[in-house]
Amino acid sequence: MDALNLPRPAWMTEDLVLLEEQVRRFLAGEFVPQLERWAEDGQYERAVWTKAGEAGLLCASIPEEYGGAGGSFAHETVINREIALAGFDSFGGPLHSGIVAPYILKYGTEEQKRRWLPRMATGELVGAIAMTEPGTGSDLQAVRTTAKKSGNGYVLNGSKTFITNGQHANLIIVVAKTDPKERAKGISLMVVETDDASGFRRGRKLAKLGMDAADTSELFFEDVALPAESLLGTEEGQGFAQLMNELPQERLIVATAAIGMIERALRLTIDYVKQRKAFGKHIIEFQNTQFELAECKSEATIGRVFHDHCVERHIVGQLDTTTASMAKYWLTDLQNKIVDRCLQLFGGYGYMEEYPISRMYRDARVQRIYAGTNEIMKLLIARSL
Ligand SMILES: Cc1cc2nc3c(=O)[nH]c(=O)nc-3n(C[C@H](O)[C@H](O)[C@H](O)COP(=O)(O)OP(=O)(O)OC[C@H]3O[C@@H](n4cnc5c(N)ncnc54)[C@H](O)[C@@H]3O)c2cc1C
Repeated sequence: MDALNLPRPAWMTEDLVLLEEQVRRFLAGEFVPQLERWAEDGQYERAVWTKAGEAGLLCASIPEEYGGAGGSFAHETVINREIALAGFDSFGGPLHSGIVAPYILKYGTEEQKRRWLPRMATGELVGAIAMTEPGTGSDLQAVRTTAKKSGNGYVLNGSKTFITNGQHANLIIVVAKTDPKERAKGISLMVVETDDASGFRRGRKLAKLGMDAADTSELFFEDVALPAESLLGTEEGQGFAQLMNELPQERLIVATAAIGMIERALRLTIDYVKQRKAFGKHIIEFQNTQFELAECKSEATIGRVFHDHCVERHIVGQLDTTTASMAKYWLTDLQNKIVDRCLQLFGGYGYMEEYPISRMYRDARVQRIYAGTNEIMKLLIARSL
């Protein structure tokens, strides 16, 4: 199974080894047999969320008192790597558990944590984070969505696009301006429970290059009345700082998906070139194949070691923005490079939908774009020079 044959990293304790086996078995039995169908349908079912909740795949690092599994970021990483190794690239679980839930845990009031986190852990609530707008993505401070004070609460207006989990989400953290005159200082995070939210509308599930089963969507908010408790935390204007604090974890989650997909690509390709023949030989016997895969394996090993270093640092709260940005940029670039080289070794079959490597090639591309483009990652790294 493991294409890199590396010793387990130091942070991988016995209980994490058991978790890895349990998640692998669950995914292979419940989700992997459905992946083809979900890709053809262009969406996975809502029931995936409750099944994932029952199996302990959601909110692994949220304390037990709020309904989570009481683990750490290491637990999230083990689950996220298994999701990537299983080929469920389209699943929004890592964002739900590793990005949306931690905002509530870190910045929410006691009441907000008790209201939302237990239902996120079961999959009753599906989380999304809506930052990007049609007019702005990288320049987050320029968002135009507004949350204006009205009576005791707020009125939310604006539109968001490219939102992961956009069709299933019923708990959406919306990045909005509570003070439109300000840039960063005017931003607040508003938590919207959408089930009974009048004025909230989902737009299209967007047609995309890859991640076929992901329900990436547009969202519209038209005079949505929100109670005062929708403001995450108790103070307006904290949203940008909250985002900046949490983005390193988001970037590491993307890096974990990258290294998982790299390992999967290598495993599939090594199996294929050992079976396929040309000119009376197995493809693996050509020196070019050996050199290609030797280079890919070497770079993947370097990537995995760096990834594990970042995870280790993050578990003890020492992963800085610069290093997290390096992991996101470098590992997603590497993923695109390695998947491309692997696909080439499949010849024409690599271009065929029925071979997973072709879908991986399409799925890989967005990794360099979302969670902050790789150009933005380089800007952040450059600030440390
Ligand atoms: C499948 C998918 C899922 C997504 N999920 C979510 C989600 O759940 N929530 C969410 O809020 N967003 C989500 N996004 C949006 C994503 O985060 C943005 O697309 C991304 O941040 C880039 O923003 P943009 O598309 O507006 O590009 P732009 O900001 O317009 O950038 C265009 C180009 O200019 C470059 N650029 C911009 N600024 C600079 C600069 N200062 N220096 C150098 N180059 C620069 C960029 O790197 C890019 O190459 C998702 C996107 C996709 C495709």
